[in-house]
Amino acid sequence: MSGSEAFDVVVIGAGPAGYPAAIRAAQNKLKVACVDEWKNTDGTAAFGGTCLNAGCIPSKALLESSELYWRAREEFAHHGIGVGQVKLDLATMQRRRAGIVKTMTGGIAALFKSAGVTGIHGHGRLLPGNRVEVSGGMGATRVLEARHVVIASGSSPIRLPSMPHDGKLIIDSWNALELDAVPRRLGVIGAGVIGLELGSVWRRLGSEVTVLEALPQLLPMADQAIAREAQRHFKKLGLDIRLGAKVQSASVTGGAVSVVYTDASGEHRLELDKLVVAVGRRPFTEGLLAEGTGVKVDGRGFVEVDEHCRTGVPNVWAVGDVVRGPMLAHKGKEEGIMVADLIAGRYGEVNYRAIPSVIYTAPEIAWVGLTEEQVKASGRPYKVGSFPFAANGRARALEAAQGMAKMVSAADDDEILGVHIIGPFAGELIAEAVLALEYSASSEDLQRTMHAHPTLSEALHEAALAVDKRAIDSINR
Ligand SMILES: Cc1cc2nc3c(=O)[nH]c(=O)nc-3n(C[C@H](O)[C@H](O)[C@H](O)COP(=O)(O)OP(=O)(O)OC[C@H]3O[C@@H](n4cnc5c(N)ncnc54)[C@H](O)[C@@H]3O)c2cc1C
Repeated sequence: MSGSEAFDVVVIGAGPAGYPAAIRAAQNKLKVACVDEWKNTDGTAAFGGTCLNAGCIPSKALLESSELYWRAREEFAHHGIGVGQVKLDLATMQRRRAGIVKTMTGGIAALFKSAGVTGIHGHGRLLPGNRVEVSGGMGATRVLEARHVVIASGSSPIRLPSMPHDGKLIIDSWNALELDAVPRRLGVIGAGVIGLELGSVWRRLGSEVTVLEALPQLLPMADQAIAREAQRHFKKLGLDIRLGAKVQSASVTGGAVSVVYTDASGEHRLELDKLVVAVGRRPFTEGLLAEGTGVKVDGRGFVEVDEHCRTGVPNVWAVGDVVRGPMLAHKGKEEGIMVADLIAGRYGEVNYRAIPSVIYTAPEIAWVGLTEEQVKASGRPYKVGSFPFAANGRARALEAAQGMAKMVSAADDDEILGVHIIGPFAGELIAEAVLALEYSASSEDLQRTMHAHPTLSEALHEAALAVDKRAIDSINR
């Protein structure tokens, strides 16, 4: 073991929670190291964590390519564009995906360099006394002395013994992003965000996709008017979503996967060419905490923290997927920034009531704040306004006039409590609603805000007007 080095802050993990923490700490004039052990399938090390290497970014690259392919086949003729036989070149599509990932992860290394963060590839282990042992990278094991340690070790896919992962036929979300051929029959276990996005990609590229979901309801965390609308669109795409389907086992025989599941009508068997298990993710803390650090992990494996991401051990913090709250890149990023500011004695806070959720299917789904069902259950009197994209000129021009924008506000003071969108670029449109919630805006604030015409954002404006039955471009009910 070589001698020790001293830093103000050592961050373990360079995903979307860890790398912003490291960069902000450096901006705060602290001496920072960020340790990350990620290895890609070709054995190369890369910063960026799950999000950049195996999650948000590669999935969005493939969602875009597959949607273009689908639209070329299904919609171009309607625009008066003839392209003859549309052909799929999956190898080029996958090269593009890999190229985007490489550029983005390389960008983090460059950001570290320019901010003065020491980026280290290797495994970090927290030792008692705020020291971090780094092993497995280039060179000998070393120990970093840290005034503060930020744990940002992320999450990994949940594996179930009844569906033994082999990385070839029974696969996880990362494997499903790197397939080199379109499976004829693809099964997806779990109709959560990841399952629906991956199912959409491969359905558009030609697979017959069956999604098995144990819950009786699709997207229970979303506003149910939006979830019902989504279900119609998924059906139109050809996704065979079976709700209330509890998978008993999956096994590989003769180059195919056999899945046994039960539902209200009894036991069923499905034969598939590949099975993606997307039943959720769990916090990742393997080999992270040495004996005696004092950092507590709860029954589900999450590192315990307070609302400021303090672990309870002086100067040890934890952020991102490894702590409570939604497993989303932007939630981790804000926590990382908050912690780096608090360490530097600055103000830092995360507003956990204004975390946007986005599902990048077509149409996209996005929301922030409370669903109508949650507001109803709270007993607070409320008003609802919604506006269909069918009445929005830009959506019509885009040939994407499906879905709606919906706003829920309080009946007493008109504060916006939740905004729910299913429609074109919903993930972009939701930003205005997040800002509205951040500023405790009322629906009237949005009603009185000018929106450019013709834009998709007018749908949100009209939904705000509809809250008081004053929509202009649709019938008020
Ligand atoms: C297919 C898919 C699509 C997704 N799409 C979206 C999306 O569109 N939007 C969104 O917000 N979220 C999305 N997510 C979720 C998102 O990827 C995570 O919420 C996010 O990556 C969490 O960030 P993190 O920094 O906490 O952890 P991670 O991104 O998991 O990063 C943790 C890093 O720490 C490293 N590490 C762990 N332990 C150690 C150790 N002991 N020593 C050194 N390094 C260590 C890991 O190797 C990893 O590089 C998606 C996830 C998947 C799987």
